[in-house]
Amino acid sequence: MSRIAFVNGRYLPWRQASVHIEDRGYQFSDGVYEVCEVRGGRLIDERLHMARLERSLKELRIAMPMSLKAIGLVMRETVARNRVRDGLVYIQITRGVARRDHAFPAAGTAPAVVVTARGLDFASNERTAAEGIAVVTVPDNRWERVDIKSVSLLPNVLAKQAAREQGAKEAWFVDRDGRVTEGSSTNAWIVTRDGEVVTRPADNGILRGITRTVLIEALKAQGLTFKERAFTVEEAYGAREAFITSASMIVMPVTRIDGRPVGNGAPGLLASALRRDFHRYAEWA
Ligand code: PLP
Repeated sequence: MSRIAFVNGRYLPWRQASVHIEDRGYQFSDGVYEVCEVRGGRLIDERLHMARLERSLKELRIAMPMSLKAIGLVMRETVARNRVRDGLVYIQITRGVARRDHAFPAAGTAPAVVVTARGLDFASNERTAAEGIAVVTVPDNRWERVDIKSVSLLPNVLAKQAAREQGAKEAWFVDRDGRVTEGSSTNAWIVTRDGEVVTRPADNGILRGITRTVLIEALKAQGLTFKERAFTVEEAYGAREAFITSASMIVMPVTRIDGRPVGNGAPGLLASALRRDFHRYAEWA
């Protein structure tokens, strides 16, 4: 079955799905995106993802190209046309197509919209979670507005590649004070020796992950000790558990940081339990 993509108002076969060479996303990374989990054919936490999409667009002064309701319909149609039951739906909106000039194009230039969907190997992800993943740390050399989910991801690309080259699945960015900000495509968490669950506050230094937001609600509902504060790499080395969160990884135990085992080197009990229970707290639509 050929994949189908939504491109500027049309559902196109994969081979024909292309954007113009002067799309500002292509030339300037002038655009934003969202990734939503699809589970059992339903969208997970769509409302929160759409709220963040609206915010990202507003921060970059890109016009909303269509109503949120219409975007929701396109995401569902793309999921259905690609027969995705468990996977991801991706939406990207750029400032549109215009003659190359750094400043914004003329008012009325239509933003460009692309939506794709793909399946994830559910069983393989569960096997990865049962083993845990390795992360490496890298200096955080990104701009100061990483709270905006923009397609400008070059430092994240280089960080992820550095991780791969060291046999790790994710890279954790570290700020100038030696404190972990977040992963290249995930939020970072530890569980201290005292059982406190810790993640960095969602200021401008990280992306406010939707999985992070929902997990915080789940922690509170379960009466677990939770603190939003920065933690150092040293503290992470000595933590009882560590894990990452994102729409595609859900809650993924981290068992090695820079080659050192976390806790006893096996996936943490709390992280594994949070992974199992996460979707009870998520919104299904
Ligand atoms: N941090 C970064 C840099 C990301 O790219 C992502 C997801 O792509 C996240 C955190 C996690 O966000 P979410 O839970 O909304 O997927």
